Amino acid sequence: MIVVKVGGSKGITYDNVCSDIAMLFRDGRPVVLVHGGSYETNVLSQQLGHPPEFVTSVSGFVSRRTDRRTLEIFEMALCGKVNKQIVELLQRNGANAIGLSGLDGRLLEGKRKDAIKVIVDGRKRVIHDDYTGTVQTVNVALLRLLLDAGYLPVITPPAISTAGEAMNVDADRAAAAIAAALGADQLIILSNVPGLLREYPDESTLIRTIPAAQVEQAMAFAEDRMKKKVLGAVEAISHGVKRIVFADARLERPVTAALAGQGTVIE
Ligand code: ADP
Repeated sequence: MIVVKVGGSKGITYDNVCSDIAMLFRDGRPVVLVHGGSYETNVLSQQLGHPPEFVTSVSGFVSRRTDRRTLEIFEMALCGKVNKQIVELLQRNGANAIGLSGLDGRLLEGKRKDAIKVIVDGRKRVIHDDYTGTVQTVNVALLRLLLDAGYLPVITPPAISTAGEAMNVDADRAAAAIAAALGADQLIILSNVPGLLREYPDESTLIRTIPAAQVEQAMAFAEDRMKKKVLGAVEAISHGVKRIVFADARLERPVTAALAGQGTVIE
C-alpha cells in the first residue's frame, strides 16, 4: 500500500503523475492519492476578487487565512477543479479513480481551531473566524471499502470538524494521517523540488537520506511551506509509516522514481 501526495504548486502538471500512478495501480498496487491545490486557490481567489492572505503562526508555520469566503473558494478550486482534473486523468489512463473530499463520509475528521494565534508586523494577534484545523481520525473503513472494490481514492481537503463544519487542513499532514491510519508501507510526497534541500533553493544540496530517528532535526533545513511536509513526515514516522520520500513531481515517472529511491528518503 502506498499513499502519494501531490502538491498544488506552480509548475506541477498532473499528467505524468497520473499516468505513472495509473500504471502502478493497474499492475495491482493499492494506491491512495492525496492532493492539494494552493496555486489554483490563489488564482481563483484573485479572479473572484478575494485575494489570498497568509498568516504566520506564533510557532512559525505559514498557513492560508481561511475565512468563510476563502473556504468556499478553496472548495471550488480543490474539490471542483483539481480533484476532477486528477480523476479525469486517472480514468483516461485506465484507473477507476473516485474523488472524495475529507467531508465525504467524514473521511478526514478533526478539531477546528477555536482561534489562531498569528504574528502580524511583529505583534501577536488572535483570529477567531478561521476555518482551519487538524486531522485526527481517518475513516479507514470507507477507504478499504473503495480499495477492496477496485477503486483508486483521490482525496482532497477540506476535512470535517467534530461539529460538522468544513475546515481547511494541510494536505501533507492529511496524507501523513491517511498513510498512518492505513498502515501504508510508504508515503510519497511529490512537489516542485527534487526533495529536501540542505540549502534551498540550491538543488545540488539535495539531502538523499534521513534516518527516521533524525527526522525532527531535518526541520532545521525546511523553510516556509516545506516545514509542513517535514512535520507530516515526523507524524507519519511516529505513527509507524516505515518509509517517506520527498520527491520531484516533474519527472517523467515520478512515483516509480520515488519508489526506486530518487529524492529524500526517510526510513
Ligand atoms: P506543494 O504545493 O507542492 O505541496 P509547497 O509549495 O507547499 O508544495 O512546498 C514546496 C516548496 O517548499 C518548494 O517549492 C520550495 O519553494 C519550498 N522550500 C522551502 N524550504 C525548502 C527546502 N529546504 N527544500 C526544498 N524546498 C523548500
